[in-house]
Amino acid sequence: MNVYEVIKKKRDGLELSKKEIGFLIDGFVNSQIPDYQMTAFLMAVYFKGMSDRECVELTMAMANSGDHVDLSAIQGFKVDKHSTGGVGDKTTLVLAPLVAASGGIVAKMTGRELGHTGGTIDKLKSIPGLQVELSKNKFVGIVNDIHLGLIAQTDSLAPADRQLYALRNVTATVDSIPLIASSIMSKKLAAGADGIVLDVKTGRGAFTKSYEEALNLAKTMVDIGEGAGRRMVAWITGMEQPLGYAVGNAIEVKEAIDTLRGNGPRDLVDLIMELGSDMLFISGIVSSRKEAKSRIAENLANQKGLNRLVDLIVAQGGDPSVLDNPDLLPQPRAKIEVKSETTGYVSAIDALEVGLASKVLGAGRKTKDDAIDYSVGIYLKKKIGDKVKAGDLLAVFYSDGDEKKIEPARKKFVAAYSFNSNKMDPPKLIYARITRDGVEEW
Ligand code: URA
Repeated sequence: MNVYEVIKKKRDGLELSKKEIGFLIDGFVNSQIPDYQMTAFLMAVYFKGMSDRECVELTMAMANSGDHVDLSAIQGFKVDKHSTGGVGDKTTLVLAPLVAASGGIVAKMTGRELGHTGGTIDKLKSIPGLQVELSKNKFVGIVNDIHLGLIAQTDSLAPADRQLYALRNVTATVDSIPLIASSIMSKKLAAGADGIVLDVKTGRGAFTKSYEEALNLAKTMVDIGEGAGRRMVAWITGMEQPLGYAVGNAIEVKEAIDTLRGNGPRDLVDLIMELGSDMLFISGIVSSRKEAKSRIAENLANQKGLNRLVDLIVAQGGDPSVLDNPDLLPQPRAKIEVKSETTGYVSAIDALEVGLASKVLGAGRKTKDDAIDYSVGIYLKKKIGDKVKAGDLLAVFYSDGDEKKIEPARKKFVAAYSFNSNKMDPPKLIYARITRDGVEEW
């Protein structure tokens, strides 16, 4: 088989065989196919798409490119959650301890930032001392003890995804439904959870901008997961504006802690209720989603979720005093006020541009080997529907003080806001729930 011919076949919009897909993935993982040829293939998929069959075969080739994690040493139903990526999306940091405190078992491998969106592993790494690379025995031991573990995707888990993910991040080939579906589902299938709740984002800050694209992605992933014997639920949720107020790494950890203390932003809490109740429901430990929701609400109010986060930080070698003293998280050199030049009601905030502005400040990578500055980010002071007077604070930039970053970030950020003379309602957050039985729209 010839790599050039396979790329050309996809470039011309033809369907690839299972053998051809396997040939590309194996060749790439074994370093026989260089990044530039793989990038050409990814770009061809971006423009020409894939059939359902090709997408399943790409997923399975990627899942089988490395080890499958055997979680059988952990007793009970293991439940996982994955977001397709958002701006300010610190959901896992709140949800995972809350679900564990409510009786679920969360053994989760989690990833780095992608495109303009943040990565849970980068946020976790901002907690001093916290280890996210653990041996399998240590991970299993922690999950058996506290029903919760959050670690980085290991090198041997779906290595094809790890390598493709890093390449896509820097070659404008992230927002493609077959590439997202195969990326997410290959590592979810290899990571060994029994049930998976997916948060498929739609809106300006999502990789699938329209509801129809998000629905297509959600259905594709539910079908792949159910076909592989996993219990699946996918939610379609809004990413019109950033989730919560904090965008970055340490700054999002702080907002997650505040949320577990009961002081979380409304949108984040509403999202957690829906995703968390399904994580408990598919685990089979409650008889209805209603019962699951009241358990989650109770463990948010009594701070058992917060205590479980403490357990996690201790078990994974981190410093739990960050919970009482957030100044122990990486601190920015400078806090820069960004003021509005306009009077009116905020009518839109382009989450994509906010995510990019945060990257300009240093919260993300430009090339796959760049280091991240955990201390920088953006704290929004105004969201859609808020009244603003010229001169009011729109946001505070957490910055390293470098003007070469601050000015372009400020331009991007201010341009992300639109105003109107009439008050707007906040955008829709929950759109639909998708299971093997069909689509329920909200
Ligand atoms: N999350 C992933 O893990 N992969 C993607 O391609 C997009 C979001």
